[in-house]
Amino acid sequence: MEKQRTLDEVGEFGLIDILTKNFNTTKSTIKGIGDDCAVLEYSADEYQLVTTDFLLEGIHFDLVYTPLKHIGYKAVVAGISDIYAMNGTPKQIMVSIAVSAKFSVNALEQLYDGIRTACQNYKIELIGGDTSASMTGLAINITAMGTVGKDKITYRSGAKVTDLICVSGDLGGAYAGLQVLQREKAVYNQNKDSQPKLAGYEYVLQRILKPEARFDIVEKLKENNIIPTSMIDITDGLSSELFHICFDSGVGCKIYEERVPINEETGTVCAEFNLEPIIPALHGGEDYELLFTVPLSAYEAIKKIKDVAVIGNVVEKEKGLGMISRSGDFIHIKAQGWNTSEKR
Ligand code: ADP
Ligand code: MG
Repeated sequence: MEKQRTLDEVGEFGLIDILTKNFNTTKSTIKGIGDDCAVLEYSADEYQLVTTDFLLEGIHFDLVYTPLKHIGYKAVVAGISDIYAMNGTPKQIMVSIAVSAKFSVNALEQLYDGIRTACQNYKIELIGGDTSASMTGLAINITAMGTVGKDKITYRSGAKVTDLICVSGDLGGAYAGLQVLQREKAVYNQNKDSQPKLAGYEYVLQRILKPEARFDIVEKLKENNIIPTSMIDITDGLSSELFHICFDSGVGCKIYEERVPINEETGTVCAEFNLEPIIPALHGGEDYELLFTVPLSAYEAIKKIKDVAVIGNVVEKEKGLGMISRSGDFIHIKAQGWNTSEKR
């Protein structure tokens, strides 16, 4: 008998491949499974983008240190970030929730306060969803829809050798913030009279509790007439996202450690936890920044965009994925974490 594989052995991406390999799409589906969004025929000059995400209590959020309002806000950000990653504009969301009896109406109103605030900030509309009882905790599913000009759409698969590799904002902050929250939770569990020490950690806490999707970057690229050759949002860490772009584009990459943007406070917090800041930047998650590639000819234009760093360039596939460390060593980038299968 064939040996039963465990979820741990195949990882998240391996599992998706196994489950979805025998499905085909026809011509009104331009892109089905495999990118940040599905891409559907919409009008003469635009595509429709659709994406869906789960947020589960105990897996994606911990109610001990996350206010429900923030969970609502972040759920929307996670959904629409995938639309921006296709160079698109989000328009509508649908929200489905499963709730256990422990939640009061007031608590769920707070969740929807966060959802409403995000809808206002990102100018999108809530158009429906579903509500169910749950045996255990809270589950939230967000489906986001948007559009993109056919001439502007950006997949994970278009990176070309010599392209510049760019990152928005800074990385590793959300992971650093999570370390602080988990430490304070452990202290609180020891002594219920203790007050959490959160002063001085404002930036990293904001990164984990109230991330923003980078519509401003998508806008700036448009203003400067730059269409990235590939793009993905950074939800699982830089290394994992570089893997997706390189694998799907059939290329390799060379990035430079010293150019990977890391906020000063993130650096300080990492030192407190005895962590090299590059580790959470590569392997932490939930930064919701954008990783994209642009042709070399766009260098002057890219340089002018505030909050975008050029961290390296696309190389031939045979050269693999590498990072030049601060001391000049070549380090092979490996996508870490349980949710990355060997194949990628
Ligand atoms: P992201 O991190 O950008 O949300 P995922 O890694 O979750 O992307 O998904 C990658 C691709 O696989 C997407 O096209 C997504 O729609 C598809 N996918 C993920 N899970 C499933 C599933 N259970 N069934 C079908 N398609 C899936
Ligand atoms: Mg994505």
